[in-house]
Amino acid sequence: MRTSWLVARMLATIVGLLPAAAPHAAVAAAPPDRYVVVHAGILLAVPGRPPEREMSIIVRNDRILSVDKGYTDAAVLQTSAGAMVEVIDLRNRFVLPGLMDAHVHLAMEPSFGRHRTERGDRNPSTGAERAVNAMIYARRSLAAGFTTLRDLGSDDSSVFAVRNAIRQGRMIGPRILVAGSALAVTGGHGDTLPLDATGDPQARLRDGTCDGPYECREAVRFQYKLGADVIKFTSTGGFSSNTALEPEFFPDEVEAIVATAHLLGLKAAAHAYSALAIRQAVHAGVDSIEHGFLVDDEGLAMMKKAGTYLVPTLSASYPPPIFKVPNPESVRIRNEHKAFERAYAAGVKIAFGTDAGTFAHGDNAKEFGLMVRFGMSPMDALRSATVATADLFGIAGEVGTLEPGKLADLIAVAGNPLDDVGTLLDVDFVMKSGRIAKRDGRMVEPFSYPPPSATF
Ligand SMILES: [Zn+2]
Repeated sequence: MRTSWLVARMLATIVGLLPAAAPHAAVAAAPPDRYVVVHAGILLAVPGRPPEREMSIIVRNDRILSVDKGYTDAAVLQTSAGAMVEVIDLRNRFVLPGLMDAHVHLAMEPSFGRHRTERGDRNPSTGAERAVNAMIYARRSLAAGFTTLRDLGSDDSSVFAVRNAIRQGRMIGPRILVAGSALAVTGGHGDTLPLDATGDPQARLRDGTCDGPYECREAVRFQYKLGADVIKFTSTGGFSSNTALEPEFFPDEVEAIVATAHLLGLKAAAHAYSALAIRQAVHAGVDSIEHGFLVDDEGLAMMKKAGTYLVPTLSASYPPPIFKVPNPESVRIRNEHKAFERAYAAGVKIAFGTDAGTFAHGDNAKEFGLMVRFGMSPMDALRSATVATADLFGIAGEVGTLEPGKLADLIAVAGNPLDDVGTLLDVDFVMKSGRIAKRDGRMVEPFSYPPPSATF
């Protein structure tokens, strides 16, 4: 990959058109615009439409200015005064929008225990450790080409802290939408409270434990107050707990959660396995069904009609999660019910999501291989991780495709993922919001944007 910096000399020719500088400028001048010209050998600008050969993407600061046919010469670019122009040569690469994973847990990973120090073993799950882990896992996900993540549940504020640091520009990382604590009933999937804290109102709020519609409303509002971007609730048990797979919430509790989330302008995501729980959540207007392994045909018909997304998390059952107790039942249940195949055949919207955190972060793209293995076309799989996720997240105007006006989130791979989605396991160029995070297979500049003085 060839890279060259040019100060935009051609601007001397248009300087005469600009008004003279004020004699005594009171404030510091705005930093010069940064332009990046990406030469893409093959460009999949809008997953779902055919890719095009020999294209250029012109990026100004954080957004895409234009997408042009041919390899645009930086010297003919019309830029603002003093602008910096960088040319990125991806003429032997396949370029596509940054990938998005709708279901991760950044504060955890099954291998975490191997990295504990001996003296820390007695208290291995402090918030401080989770925050540091979440930062490392977020960076690893970005290196794997995932420029946007939706974190669907952590036990404390650690992922909020990482999201905020990235959002404030204090380090480069993936864009993260955070659920905070997933809501669960007392004794349900996700209730991590010790017995002696079960009646403590503060502890219940922090853990997202709620019983009855009024407490569930309060639980949603508490996560909102913490800064949640999305509300997650665990309406059934799951493979990683011993709480079985049937409904745990009553319909009025589910309705209270979804309605309160929507009142606050947040999407609601239901972890749901059993067919009944899925129907109840869809009836309440939930935006996505996570996992959905036991969905029935009636539930699929309801999802199709309502436009509810399925987030399949096939990776969560292949191989069985080792997060808590290995569950050999997960593969059998998935294979027997084939929820993913049936949803795809029924035309239900599918958004890419993996449950990373129940397996190693950075392996998210393995989900593409499972989706294709179970019958999805590579193009639809790519669409599920770009256009569809952006729509589910409510940010389709900002990301998901490479079109003028959108944030410049793009990645590149050698080979053609439309022929072999396995190529997505080796992403060697990543740009997020116009900033280059990875080039020539190496991560760059983790903490340098913007300089600290500009942040505080
Ligand atoms: Zn999960």
